[in-house]
Amino acid sequence: MGEFDLIRRYFTRPTPRAVLGVGDDCALLQPRPGMQLAISSDMLVEGRHFLSTVPPAALGHKALAVNLSDLAACGAQPLAFTLALALPRADAAWLEPFSQGLLALADAHGCELVGGDTTQGPLNICITVFGEVPPGQALLRSGAQVGDDLYVSGTLGDARLALEVFRGTLSLPEAAFAQARTRLERPTPRVALGLALRGVATAAADISDGLLGDLGHILRASGVGAVVDTSIAIQLVAAHAYMKSTGAIFDAEHLLDCVLAGGDDYELVFTAPPAARQAVAAAAARADTPVARIGQIESRQADAPIRLIDGQGAPVLRTFAGFDHFA
Ligand code: ADP
Ligand code: MG
Repeated sequence: MGEFDLIRRYFTRPTPRAVLGVGDDCALLQPRPGMQLAISSDMLVEGRHFLSTVPPAALGHKALAVNLSDLAACGAQPLAFTLALALPRADAAWLEPFSQGLLALADAHGCELVGGDTTQGPLNICITVFGEVPPGQALLRSGAQVGDDLYVSGTLGDARLALEVFRGTLSLPEAAFAQARTRLERPTPRVALGLALRGVATAAADISDGLLGDLGHILRASGVGAVVDTSIAIQLVAAHAYMKSTGAIFDAEHLLDCVLAGGDDYELVFTAPPAARQAVAAAAARADTPVARIGQIESRQADAPIRLIDGQGAPVLRTFAGFDHFA
């Protein structure tokens, strides 16, 4: 199978919305009048972002999911994406499930594959997504205000637990592992929640490198600090319920590590004023996505922008590092 056969067979689809899709030198998009384009790229490299053993359908899903998660964090509606793919060989047994996993998620979000590039090389997947958002309504990292509530969506830490099981450093009961593995391999981009939070949240980011790291980006951009209640945060691990019911499989400190700095969650962390609590609850209901209030924005202490407290308000003195590829 040659390069162009491959593109035709696996990556050429009708594009009812885009003016021009795959097949010419450029794709053509027509944003709706007055809309701003939201654009983001994310690359997945074998060995760095995923294990070589991950099922190709899951990899296709995840490659797009991590990009849609960036649109979600901005409150943008997905429109289209491009796919730049380096592949060791044109292997139908890999391309078929990969493209199915990718395009199923694309269809679920009405996000059209409009172009890309295909080359031979070590497996590397780079997607650029395009979304649209009304002017002035994008959710930014820079809008958090002192006194705002701090929220996260969904569950945190389970992707990290699954990674540790794959690495052989941890074992989990089968049902807990299955759930955690789904979080690692098939993350759910919170697009509906991001859209519902327009005009409600003051700042937002998606959690790809761990809660503390990504919250840190909001705090720096907004010039504020935050206090996080670890007794609430730890309950965000879906596997926590299993931990409780099956006895201590491993310690609470480790679970907290996974929640605060595990990475690969693709949930949203966001802020909103206390007066907007009902509006946040309504947005969560509309998006059918649970959210939890885990802390508050406060004025910034240069040496410790994030204060961790326990359920009684006492300081939790630990350090956590988010995931930095060059640290
Ligand atoms: P060019 O030579 O202009 O870079 P290519 O020959 O690489 O174009 O690609 C031909 C067409 O196929 C272009 O429209 C390009 O956007 C599209 N394309 C190439 N690879 C992919 C891919 N992996 N997924 C979707 N479209 C692709
Ligand atoms: Mg090319």
